[in-house]
Amino acid sequence: MISDVRTGIGWDSHRLVDDRPERPLILGGVTIDSPLALDGHSDADVLTHAVIDALLGAAGLGDIGEHFPDTDERWKGADSIALLAHVVGLVADAGWRITAVDSTVVLERPKLSPYKAAMAARLAATLGIDVERVNVKATTAERMGAVGRGEGAVGQAVATIVRPA
Ligand code: MG
Repeated sequence: MISDVRTGIGWDSHRLVDDRPERPLILGGVTIDSPLALDGHSDADVLTHAVIDALLGAAGLGDIGEHFPDTDERWKGADSIALLAHVVGLVADAGWRITAVDSTVVLERPKLSPYKAAMAARLAATLGIDVERVNVKATTAERMGAVGRGEGAVGQAVATIVRPA
């Protein structure tokens, strides 16, 4: 059977602020031990936001700002994993099956390597796919630019989806 295979990319950035204990730092749905947190209308989970945009892009369903506008009080402080779950439903309703998600989060500190497996597991559970199909990579900006100065974080993702042609 011929399948229609599509890919989408997602990119997001949020500023780091000293807002604890009001805002924890959340990446890929996992709370990271950090004195700083990401600022935004929702929980500002840049990694999950990038995954959402990758899925919406692959399915031709627009972008995260169209679905969850930051002018809408409903999404204030929103759990981004819940937003991802909603988008997974939209993608499934359009007949698509998610086959793989790859992602990178760029953050100067703290080191994210202890959290990568937990982030992949949380994303995979929300995507409804095996964790072996979800990859989370973490890197720094080598002290270059705004992210390198510790002013914020960036998330990037690629999603692959298929449906019968
Ligand atoms: Mg965002």
